[in-house]
Amino acid sequence: MILVVLAVCCGASAQRGAGPAAPANFVKIDAPVIALAHARVVDGTGAPPRENQTILIRNGTITGIGETVRDIPSEATVVDLAGKTVLPGFVMVHEHLYYPTGAAIYGQLGESFTRLYLAGGVTTMRTGGNTNGVMDLNLKRQIDAGLRAGPSIDATAPYLNGPSSTLQMHTLKDADDARRQVGYWAEMGATSFKAYMQITRAELAAAIAEVHKRRLKITGHLCSVTYAEAADLGIDDLEHGFLAATDFVADKKPDDCPAQGAGQRTIAALDETGEPFKALVRNLVDKHVALTSTMTVFETLTPGRPMPPGLDVLLPELKQQFEQNYARTAQNRESIYKTLLPKGMALERAFARAGGLLIAGTDPTGGGGVIPGYSNQRQLELLVEEGFTPVEAIMIGTFNGATYLGRDSQVGSIVVGKQADLVIVAGDPSKTIADVRNVETVFKKGVGYDPQKLIESVRGRVGLW
Ligand SMILES: [Zn+2]
Repeated sequence: MILVVLAVCCGASAQRGAGPAAPANFVKIDAPVIALAHARVVDGTGAPPRENQTILIRNGTITGIGETVRDIPSEATVVDLAGKTVLPGFVMVHEHLYYPTGAAIYGQLGESFTRLYLAGGVTTMRTGGNTNGVMDLNLKRQIDAGLRAGPSIDATAPYLNGPSSTLQMHTLKDADDARRQVGYWAEMGATSFKAYMQITRAELAAAIAEVHKRRLKITGHLCSVTYAEAADLGIDDLEHGFLAATDFVADKKPDDCPAQGAGQRTIAALDETGEPFKALVRNLVDKHVALTSTMTVFETLTPGRPMPPGLDVLLPELKQQFEQNYARTAQNRESIYKTLLPKGMALERAFARAGGLLIAGTDPTGGGGVIPGYSNQRQLELLVEEGFTPVEAIMIGTFNGATYLGRDSQVGSIVVGKQADLVIVAGDPSKTIADVRNVETVFKKGVGYDPQKLIESVRGRVGLW
């Protein structure tokens, strides 16, 4: 491989935080003491919004909240937020640093995606499987070291999968190989794992044991293994709500992924009040298996839905490619997604109402059109369409994600003592969830970033890097 280094190498640019991705390029507010005054606060815990609050931030930590906060020092930078709402930074858990660029190949877009996620309000994210090997891990380290702007990343290893047609995935040989892969990638720095559609029960069982031995977590986008089987084996989380479940396929063979349509037809016909589904939900809730909602990616496959937000940041060729897919989808009157999307929403809602931990992500894959940052805001809107209140949707996209990741003592809600990861939006998303699109500033560890600067730094080139 010939590496062409375009940036000036190794002099000033090698210093901490220099170069085009450096946090300093995107900072709007940075001061040791900041008082956010007269704000409406939706704190992420599901509590009703509180009006006219002041949030005091010292050295990146929330040190006071209330109608009157004592001890605001004279040197504090005061920001008047009348008419605005402060939310916790989003904690989203089915994110990726790659995107479909054509011919079943995924372009590695970590450089632009990390900036877009932060611009959209995401301050913590789990990547839900990687197709690159080390990029997610390196980005995580560089962001943590303050060399780059971006969310804090729970970095997932390359997928654990059986034989598939995907060029960018390893094929597990057997359960021993699953153990080896987990050991290797955990050593490399991965803090999370993802099982995929063609894994066997034996490989999944081996992977779960190795992952849990290291006190890490493993999720799955499953097919060959049913949700009930995976729950019995001890998986921590299942992806795509119930839309990937093959539990209800009558003639399903063990360890075999039935044709995609077969599973989807059973889900589209499933009764969310019937005993078979309720028994599965009870099993998942009893075993503390979380469920990740990714309605954004399914929406792009469903006819009659609005054009997704954020397409303008794409490379023109990729934008055009998605617009063609969108037109094709619109003409597909027979599409199963017309039933599957609302059914998937009803099933997820039933899981959450039964006491299950519902978490949220966006999955920027499929046929394209799921654009980081913009899609995280869209995911919150879709949770409201699903039947949650705006305050509940915000909790699912913040506190629930942090709870799943085990980071809820540091992030996920607006509480004294937690890290100042905050999203400031114009308007009142507790009434009108679409106001989450009006992001004005994103605080991460008390540093306020300008979403426009982050977006402009990648506009029109998302697809190249
Ligand atoms: Zn995914």
